Amino acid sequence: MDAVRVFLGFGSNIGDGIEHIQTAARELKNRTGCAVRLSGFWRSKARYYVDQPDFINAVGELRCLLGAAELLDLCNAIEAAMGRDRSRVAEKGPRIIDIDILLYGKEIIATERLIVPHPGIRERKFVLFPLLELDSGLRDPVTDELFQDILARLPRQGIYPILSGRYDAPYPA
Ligand code: ADP
Ligand code: MG
Repeated sequence: MDAVRVFLGFGSNIGDGIEHIQTAARELKNRTGCAVRLSGFWRSKARYYVDQPDFINAVGELRCLLGAAELLDLCNAIEAAMGRDRSRVAEKGPRIIDIDILLYGKEIIATERLIVPHPGIRERKFVLFPLLELDSGLRDPVTDELFQDILARLPRQGIYPILSGRYDAPYPA
């Protein structure tokens, strides 16, 4: 099978989110042999269940030889290994790490366990900003719309880039 271009969404709002996302990306590399290219990190207010800490989010790109269901199993195994206990926390509640399959090539998947493209992409700026950092020309495989155009229609959601330290003067310079 040829490698499939996959985009994964990472989120964390317990402890050091940047570190948890980097650990998850490293685990994916260790277990698949494929390096993950990470976007920048973004901070977002919790949505849905709002009484919880801000989230740190990023998107990762990898060329993957696993099938989509196997990849989901692997993501779930990494979440569990990192200490996420789905039985104990409220749905949409705080989590050490959440790994979602955003895009699996241009495939459209709708099974009981897996919906791809991830239905949240179109409404979540904390997914769209980092996704477009990795490739600004990506399109929704379902509608063929540019994600850029979908992003442009969304209202403010309180999403901020986290400065990486790669600047040569404090803002404003
Ligand atoms: P959420 O990410 O929505 O906050 P969970 O991580 O607990 O919540 O995932 C809930 C369920 O979503 C999982 O059991 C998984 O089977 C399902 N799911 C459906 N589509 C996807 C996808 N594209 N990526 C990850 N999980 C998915
Ligand atoms: Mg998830």
